[in-house]
Amino acid sequence: MKTVGMRAVAALVLCTAPGLAQAVDTSSIQGNTDKLIAAALKDQGGLDRLEYLCYRIGNRLSGSKGLETAVSWAEAEMKKIGLENVRRVPTKVPHWVRGTESARLVSPADKPLHMLGLGGSIATPKGGITADVVVVSNFDELEKLGKAGVAGKIVVYDVPFTSYGQTVQYRGAGASRAAKLGGVAALVRSVTPRSLRDPHTGAMNYSAQDPKIPTAAISVEDAMWLHGLAKAGEKVRVHLEMEAHTEPDADSADVMGEIRGRELPDEVVVMGGHLDSWDVGQGAHDDGGGVIAALQALALMKQLGLQPRRTVRVVFWVNEENGGRGGQSYRQWVGEEIGHHYAAIEMDGGAERPVGFDLAAAVSERRRIANPGAPAPRVSPMFTANVKAIGQLLKSIGADSVEMGGAEADIAPLVASGVPGLGLKTTGEHYFDYHHTDADTFDKIVPEDFRKCVAAMAVMSYGLAELK
Ligand SMILES: [Zn+2]
Repeated sequence: MKTVGMRAVAALVLCTAPGLAQAVDTSSIQGNTDKLIAAALKDQGGLDRLEYLCYRIGNRLSGSKGLETAVSWAEAEMKKIGLENVRRVPTKVPHWVRGTESARLVSPADKPLHMLGLGGSIATPKGGITADVVVVSNFDELEKLGKAGVAGKIVVYDVPFTSYGQTVQYRGAGASRAAKLGGVAALVRSVTPRSLRDPHTGAMNYSAQDPKIPTAAISVEDAMWLHGLAKAGEKVRVHLEMEAHTEPDADSADVMGEIRGRELPDEVVVMGGHLDSWDVGQGAHDDGGGVIAALQALALMKQLGLQPRRTVRVVFWVNEENGGRGGQSYRQWVGEEIGHHYAAIEMDGGAERPVGFDLAAAVSERRRIANPGAPAPRVSPMFTANVKAIGQLLKSIGADSVEMGGAEADIAPLVASGVPGLGLKTTGEHYFDYHHTDADTFDKIVPEDFRKCVAAMAVMSYGLAELK
């Protein structure tokens, strides 16, 4: 270890992996990472870009005009910033169209329900479906009702939010589980911890062996209301009308640009988020904030004249929400060069105040154990130590936590191929309040929080691209 100044001593991080004790010296990069943080905290360009994406382009579902407008705009912005090798990776994306839709309680009262069809759902027959409702709190209750209790009915899942990963299974599989028992439609309580009677859409999947039935999200309040009526012994009837349909796959593309590395241009730190969103709201937190924070991180490097040792590449992936085709197409495009991908960073958890990064090494480690002949995982103790040391450089903005975690969806194909993956982690206080709703709009972005996201993305990508 060479002699370092007092400031850098604080940034020394001891790697505690068994059999390995080494310190990572970040003193050579801290001057520049401090500059990146200072620039990010007073930056207006990122917020202006995010506002444009939200207010002028709006939501961006795969197959929509909004997404293709966003792809062209993103390409132009990357060129304007002065990135090199700005290009598209073409990909076919699913094209689901919501159409007109509504749901009403028709008995014991006549009142509208607050609903949003789920992505991938089929339509109701013309004129809609009117049927008695059966309400369950989980799949066990559904199974107990059996065919006798479910056939011919609209199944309402009133499942309280525990965690997104837990509760979202009712949105994904609720329709097919109901159809298996003869249900004619499924209404799913929105997957959210807090509600102002706004429905939350999202992807659903039909199983291959069960009939397809229409399915929609209803607001938490409406699900609890229907549940309460049913518990009180009322005969609850609902009318559901949906025009949803799926058109042939549409043409779309990932968009990318880069700052070529000054010493190791073939080694790539790739960073981004997903450009597509649901067809409601403006996709501000999910995931406009992610793509723009990644882009702005490179814009700030350009502004400060920083050219790290390795290439830093920003990618706007498409179709994360209902297919993941953008992430897969990027992986295919990288092909044999995958060994030169040094790290992949994604931000897709909202643009709230960042607290640090999750490091997705578990996948490659598991793969290595399953296939002893496979190449060793590149999430070496040294790499982990580097990430932790770079994390320490984010202490001033409270974003220094580094923990092991899973990979975000768009970089999952890279992580599965052995590339170390990182995900920006935020406080997550309100993300699922807005997620996939009409309320995911630019006004929900807190400027100071977004600026800190830009700082964290800039410092982590720069640090990884620069450290030996
Ligand atoms: Zn997302």
